[in-house]
Amino acid sequence: MEIATHRGEKKEAPKKRRISRNLTLIKCPHCGNDREFLEVADNVILTTNYHQNNDGSFTQEGDESQIMGEIKLYCAECNNDLSQFHSRFLEMLF
Ligand SMILES: [Zn+2]
Repeated sequence: MEIATHRGEKKEAPKKRRISRNLTLIKCPHCGNDREFLEVADNVILTTNYHQNNDGSFTQEGDESQIMGEIKLYCAECNNDLSQFHSRFLEMLF
């Protein structure tokens, strides 16, 4: 719900939210890293569409992934599990 950003919509509420978001960075409580993060998804089904050309070669036409399992967020420095911040991470993903 808050993932989508609609520019040009009502200005008041999003503005307030953005300010409060910027005040707190996600920070690894274990090593203090607040820059590098890993998102790991379990049970991902990758589907890729290919078109076969007349010369027998294939051209990729698109792909989609379906995540069936859990998605976790880790600190890229010490691999500490930061999944408690994952919803916030998604909110701040642009
Ligand atoms: Zn860490």
